[in-house]
Amino acid sequence: MKYRLLLFDIDGTLIWSGYAGGRALERTFNKLYGIRNCMKGVRPDGMTDPQIVREIFIKNVKKEPDEKEIERVFEKYLENLEKTVWNQDYRVMEGIPELLKELKNRKKFLLGLATGNIYQGARLKLMPSGLWDYFEFGGFASDSAIREKILIVARKRAEEIIKDTDEIERIFVIGDTHLDIIAAKKAGFNSIAVATGNFSLSELKKYSPDYVFESFKDYKRIIKILEAS
Ligand SMILES: [Mg+2]
Repeated sequence: MKYRLLLFDIDGTLIWSGYAGGRALERTFNKLYGIRNCMKGVRPDGMTDPQIVREIFIKNVKKEPDEKEIERVFEKYLENLEKTVWNQDYRVMEGIPELLKELKNRKKFLLGLATGNIYQGARLKLMPSGLWDYFEFGGFASDSAIREKILIVARKRAEEIIKDTDEIERIFVIGDTHLDIIAAKKAGFNSIAVATGNFSLSELKKYSPDYVFESFKDYKRIIKILEAS
């Protein structure tokens, strides 16, 4: 069997969390460091959780964090995220449930996550959407803080679940930021950009993804492309 591996980003691609992550970090830094607006000057789109936390420390706590502090921040962050993720602005992106359902029915596609969220954060962020169960494996920011390394981990996990006689013939990285495109290129994978996050179609095009879509509303056309390319 020859598989096509699809690696999905979460924020801005599968869902819009209504700034659940940012709000959970704000609560965390307020509680632990007395800092009210920890996201000031930090643009988290496409960054991994450890990169975001580090930037908050440097820009707004004005210090280099040590391992223990980062660990403590993530512990508190997950506690807070469990609450902030249930908010009225949370939504699943148009066409995504249909797209995933269709892809899941076609044997040749393997669906995985490749996200800048740490593992538990990814699980919590997808909770209100009910989409978690579509993904058998993934690469997370708890595997590496570097996006292209997260992609490599995700591929390795996919290889572990297929038979020795099977093969992954193509890999598509699906995300909403230039950083997803850059990481895909570094890893040697194909990239699909979608303008459902904070980046427009023309901004994404500058980074020359293999494919770029306004949204996944026309999921049938996208499946055709994924099957034929
Ligand atoms: Mg994203």
